[in-house]
Amino acid sequence: MLAKPRPLDAEIEAQEEAVDLEARFGRGAPEALVELSIRRFAGGIAAVSSFGADSAVLLDMIARIDRSLPIVFLETGKHFGETLDYRDRLAEDLGLTGLRIVRPLESALAGTDPDGLLHRSDPDTCCAARKVEPMARAVEPFRAWLTGRKRFQSDTRRALPVFEAVGPRIRINPLAAWGTAELAAYMRAHDLRENPLVAYGYLSIGCLPCTEPAKPGEDARSGRWPGRARTECGIHLAGLERMVASA
Ligand code: SF4
Repeated sequence: MLAKPRPLDAEIEAQEEAVDLEARFGRGAPEALVELSIRRFAGGIAAVSSFGADSAVLLDMIARIDRSLPIVFLETGKHFGETLDYRDRLAEDLGLTGLRIVRPLESALAGTDPDGLLHRSDPDTCCAARKVEPMARAVEPFRAWLTGRKRFQSDTRRALPVFEAVGPRIRINPLAAWGTAELAAYMRAHDLRENPLVAYGYLSIGCLPCTEPAKPGEDARSGRWPGRARTECGIHLAGLERMVASA
């Protein structure tokens, strides 16, 4: 049997750093966590945003500290038109100047999804080409990145830490502990523009063919990949970790 590969020194260092940051700051307020992260990783940090149901909260916190922070948006080619329009309007509202629109490789789509219908038969491969590989490419220049993930969103996120190692890099989830009440209060207090799909019951918003309104009484991500046993696309899972580690 082959021996399991040993983590590289940079990966061990990132794991130790994430554990240390979590112990020291993991219970901090989201605004303080965003500020601390931008200062600590200055020049080497980005944010990743889907411009979805409550993305405005994290983006507003970032804009109050650094409007030029790189903001990565994965343009899968399958988004709702409303989300693309919302992305541009919200970025303008907040004065964000670092928007980076990252697309799948044409060669990858030509090989795996030439007719654009792969999501129907093989969403894992579709997400790998349209989200996971572009995400790994997008974060490769950075030492750390911010996400808007929350623990309440699904069972798979219940134990989400604020700081976590992804290969040799650090992923930061400053809103991990917030629930719908805190998010709604922040949106109201700062008069933030909302993705128009929220009014139609979409509580978690991804690609059009794979997103429905959340089901009554179920978690926010219940409308993602309806009818399939998956709630994550892979950009937050081990597939990305392997790609980032080898980048
Ligand atoms: S969410 Fe659906 S359409 Fe979007 S990349 Fe994944 S499988 Fe493809």
